Amino acid sequence: MSSSAYKASRYVSRSRLKVSFEFFPPKSDEMEATLWDSIERLAPLQPAFVSVTYGAGGSTRERTHATVARIIKETALKPAAHLTCVAATRAQVDEVIRDYWEAGVRHIVALRGDPVGGVGTRYESHPGGYEGSPELIAGIRAIGDFEVSVSAYPEMHPESGSVSADIDILKRKVDAGATRAITQFFFDNDVFLRYLDRVRDAGITIPIVPGIVPVQNFKQTAGFAARTGASVPDWLARRFEGLEDDPSTRKLIAAAVAAEQVLDLVDRGITEFHFYTMNRADLVYAVCHLLGMRPQDVAPNAVAA
Ligand code: FAD
Repeated sequence: MSSSAYKASRYVSRSRLKVSFEFFPPKSDEMEATLWDSIERLAPLQPAFVSVTYGAGGSTRERTHATVARIIKETALKPAAHLTCVAATRAQVDEVIRDYWEAGVRHIVALRGDPVGGVGTRYESHPGGYEGSPELIAGIRAIGDFEVSVSAYPEMHPESGSVSADIDILKRKVDAGATRAITQFFFDNDVFLRYLDRVRDAGITIPIVPGIVPVQNFKQTAGFAARTGASVPDWLARRFEGLEDDPSTRKLIAAAVAAEQVLDLVDRGITEFHFYTMNRADLVYAVCHLLGMRPQDVAPNAVAA
């Protein structure tokens, strides 16, 4: 980070910033305990919302619902439930949407989802199912007055032929009722800002919130990036080089890299961030602290020192 970037971001008022946190539904009691420790640690930072993912092919339908329902019951957080239309009829998807409405959920992250055969295979809509994300969004809006967030891809979706084809789909999603887009993670802020310019040039005005992934495990993140079309710059690989057996230094580097990324974005006018937490609080908490965020019972308006 340049020293000017650092200085500028020192004076960010906490009240200008909005953050949200993404979790995935736990598979075991142990993972459930980790998730809830993380939720309890991050909740006092008063995120705008917390989202819970939906497993590939709808595989976590019950677990996503149970996690979202527990968030509503036990916290003051606003949950957003992810939902895909893969491998399900409209009636089945509509039932999930109605169940969310009845449980008090008012925000859905609406996604088409990956092809049943996995990333890289051809996407076929399910017989009797929603065709794609624009149709799913329209279906959600027809059932209830939900806030609807959607995906956006600064480096193109792997199935896309061009950035403009990607932006066309985003426009269709907005026309269908999407109110916010959350991006796939990225590491090069210039790529995101160029994409944002193109989105605005296309007449899309909804918030485009950068998705930030603190690198808990470089190898795993690089593998995930390869599947999702996100690029991993050489400089990032070099920062984690030689730290395979040194988790504590890795963690310090990960916090530094994520902090550098968000503080640079703040300096360039971005005020909303969505963090992919991987159900772990420590790195995200540290980055939010650097952003000037403090637990609600501590005087806010703080700045990075
Ligand atoms: P869309 O945005 O509808 O389409 C993605 C791209 O495919 C388009 O940009 C376009 O290039 C191409 N495309 C789609 N339809 C057409 C068409 N009709 N004609 C031409 N091109 C087309 N997956 C899960 O399983 N569960 C989750 O909880 C989940 N959460 C996510 C959250 C975020 C913030 C992001 C960025 C992704 C998430 N995903 C999740 C991954 C997502 O399901 C996959 O990337 C999937 O392959 C595409 O779904 P989408 O809604 O992004 O697709």
